[in-house]
Amino acid sequence: MLDKISVVLVGTSHPGNIGSAARAMKVMGLTNLILVDPACEIDEKTYALAAGAADVVENAKIVPTLDEAIADCGLVVGSSARSRTLEWPQLDPRECGIKSIAEANQHKVAILFGRERTGLTNEELQRCHCHVYIPANPEYSSLNLAMAVQTVSYEVRMAFLEQQKHGKTAAVEAYPRVQELEMFYEHLEKVTTQTQFINKNHPGMVMAKLRRLFTRARPEAQELNILRGILSSVEKSLEYKDK
Ligand code: SAH
Repeated sequence: MLDKISVVLVGTSHPGNIGSAARAMKVMGLTNLILVDPACEIDEKTYALAAGAADVVENAKIVPTLDEAIADCGLVVGSSARSRTLEWPQLDPRECGIKSIAEANQHKVAILFGRERTGLTNEELQRCHCHVYIPANPEYSSLNLAMAVQTVSYEVRMAFLEQQKHGKTAAVEAYPRVQELEMFYEHLEKVTTQTQFINKNHPGMVMAKLRRLFTRARPEAQELNILRGILSSVEKSLEYKDK
């Protein structure tokens, strides 16, 4: 089950942090590391800090975009040291551990960590189903990247051990993968632009707010198909009107 959970580091700039994050993961039983567009090379500092977790570094997948890293995931959690412009469903680390373990039975789960200086962008955070915030000192709440990975990974392990103890796994609905959700958002934007609900030149925050709405509602795979069907029917009737 821990195999289904990936730690995704976005735009990391210190090679040592990649090594420390790998170590933080492995001690808690997590081994899937994905590096999105790293701003540094993997070097001897990485391996020095990874210590016995060099295999996690060696097996890390490096991808150019976040979309590529999470396309096949059914749950994406973004960690953030502060709340951003648009409030998003929020978990504490314990809830994040429990949710990740519960859903890892059903589909792949990704937990995202941001850049050392600037964290994750709003756009990246809006790709997530929910956010996790480590409730640190409000006057100084930003943990070192690898320490944030450690804290969250520890809670994933606690939830894993708890589940093993009880031996039962909660049933989870069939949710769409990120790739399917992204295709839906593209379709929604295309159709609402065609109907001139969204003004191409002044799109504003409409799409971000709709993303938040659908993130909250979390349509199941079948419900997403219905929504796609509605959009296609609107497209068809627009074509018909044009004739
Ligand atoms: N100055 C940045 C902090 C970056 S710390 C900012 O304001 O966002 C690097 C990464 O560690 C963050 O992107 C986040 O993924 C994680 N992190 C650090 N502190 C955290 C906290 N209190 N809760 C959740 N994640 C945290």
